[in-house]
Amino acid sequence: MVNKLNFNSILVVISSPSGAGKTSLANSIVKEYQSISFSTSVTTRPPREGEKNGREYYFTTKDKFDLMIKRREFIEYAQVFGNYYGTPKDKTEELLHNGRDIIFDVDWQGGTKIRNSYLAPSVISIFILPPSIKTLQERLLTRNKDDKKTVKLRMKEARSEISHWSEYDYILVNNNFENVKKNIIKIIEIEKIKRNRQNYLPDFISKLNNEFDDFI
Ligand code: 5GP
Repeated sequence: MVNKLNFNSILVVISSPSGAGKTSLANSIVKEYQSISFSTSVTTRPPREGEKNGREYYFTTKDKFDLMIKRREFIEYAQVFGNYYGTPKDKTEELLHNGRDIIFDVDWQGGTKIRNSYLAPSVISIFILPPSIKTLQERLLTRNKDDKKTVKLRMKEARSEISHWSEYDYILVNNNFENVKKNIIKIIEIEKIKRNRQNYLPDFISKLNNEFDDFI
């Protein structure tokens, strides 16, 4: 457990049905903004073509995943589309110690668990909706990541994922990638200036009061 949480860090939980664009959005934001890191999850899903261990995911076996559960090494974990996915505690805490903002690309179960974890004060959550179900299916089919059977399963699960939209702080419809990306950055910037995230304020106010005293 971290000694002292860095409440200045923003922990952005992003969920959406598979194919609505959250992973591309997260990747693009992390590439462009040096202060934001991606939370790399551990999964029992086999790597897709082009995926690299430690970049998209830490790929592991079910036995090793179970051992990590036993050792309480996850902030949260869930079964999604028949595979296990989990957010590793040590990596998250390392990023927090380094004062990083973090994006968590997780399903609604992960969203709920992170919001209810000890990280809660730093968490904001964003749900990405597809502009239409047709677009969602087209994206799943054309990205060539999954076979037809998996696409069917992902479409079936999409309805249930979308049913959790109202549990999130912010809802964005992905009808324009660049606009949605800009809005996510705007959300992070606004959240940063919320009173409770500006730890230095009590000291700053004291300093201002001292300056007042000099004038009297
Ligand atoms: P994919 O297999 O397409 O990479 O991911 C499938 C789903 O698992 C996505 O909805 C993704 O957001 C979710 N996911 C990825 N990592 C985690 C995690 O650590 N925890 C949870 N709960 N879901 C995750």
